Amino acid sequence: MKKSDPSWGSATRLAHAGRDPSANRGLVNLMPARASTVIFETVEAYLDPVPRRRRDAMAYGRIGTAPRRALEQIYAEMEGSEGAIALPSGVAAISLVLDGLLRPGDHLIMVDCVYKPARKIAELVLAAKGVETSFLPPRCRDLGPYLRPTTKLLYLESPGSHTFELQDIGTLAAQAHAAGAQVAVDNTWATPLYCRPLELGADLIITSGTKYIVGHSDAMLGLVAASGETETHLRRWADAIGHCPGSEELYLALRGLRTLEVRLPRHQASALEVARWLETRPEVAEVRHPALESHPDHALWKRDFGGACGLFGVCLEGHYSQEAADAMVNSLELFGIGASWGGYESLVAPTRSTETRTAEPWSTPGPAFRLHIGLEDPKDLIRDLEAGFRVLRAERE
Ligand SMILES: *Cc1c(COP(=O)(O)O)cnc(C)c1O
Repeated sequence: MKKSDPSWGSATRLAHAGRDPSANRGLVNLMPARASTVIFETVEAYLDPVPRRRRDAMAYGRIGTAPRRALEQIYAEMEGSEGAIALPSGVAAISLVLDGLLRPGDHLIMVDCVYKPARKIAELVLAAKGVETSFLPPRCRDLGPYLRPTTKLLYLESPGSHTFELQDIGTLAAQAHAAGAQVAVDNTWATPLYCRPLELGADLIITSGTKYIVGHSDAMLGLVAASGETETHLRRWADAIGHCPGSEELYLALRGLRTLEVRLPRHQASALEVARWLETRPEVAEVRHPALESHPDHALWKRDFGGACGLFGVCLEGHYSQEAADAMVNSLELFGIGASWGGYESLVAPTRSTETRTAEPWSTPGPAFRLHIGLEDPKDLIRDLEAGFRVLRAERE
């Protein structure tokens, strides 16, 4: 498999990294590797443990295939890590990092605005094995009160799922490192094209490849970027517990990745157009989009991010009831009601102010929802929302 030329830009890298038609009978794409058994030439080769430990090991289907190695290589290059591990889902990537790095007696600091299933891993899996978790208020810039001698990991997600607060990754990472803890960041929202957490000071990155990398709502996949001993340890851990993404999913993730650089700017531009329009609407109290000047963390976004994706939050004015807001959401034609995001199609997901928060209460002026802006014409999405607002107002009368 060819390595990328370090002088290549990210678009060139995405088009050429991790594939070599001359080694693939001229075919542009690596075919899905539907593999369990790998055949060895000799007994000696079969018994040699050394090649199995390598990052590019291909000793058994579960341990790795050519498409998996290609995806891991490209993702690691994009994040700037030494290596990467592909997993069957984003949640598997989160649990690999949390469960793989924390031992009984260790302490975890997790940002309070985190993706809900990550909180569940802390509260269910980690608690059962004697790892305690403290939740950090999302805009806190002083880890001091939360650090313990046993703190081993700081877990961030910027911006936070549903509520979109940003964290100062650099400031927090410096404090965590001084206390001997590592820092993991869920970078699903920005992708490596729009945020580079390792350059800001993080040690590990988690991405739900299900979202923009696959990009077409048709596969589940997770990725972890890491370096040094941490990477080696997590790769062994993933192998030991049997994590193994499916061949179809790997193929779809590789294919999606090739066009990320084209899709993401379109998601960004359309989402900004819709978000700016929403800001002008009298029904809307707040649009939670870090690229808007009105966002409380806009300056931090400008400093640390190179762009924004298609996902943001909307809060309605307080005089609208939850019922009216639900009627509006139910009336939308182009926005599907559903979880996940990052595909070519627009989505809406209700945000309940009962979203789990423990470090800092969270409330909105009125009912809230989260939009994912897909690749449709933004004018049509705006018309759909405009019709939705008519339903909202009618419900109130
Ligand atoms: C969806 C999501 C995940 C989990 O990914 P799955 O592939 O659905 O398991 C993790 N983090 C964030 C921020 C997500 O939005």
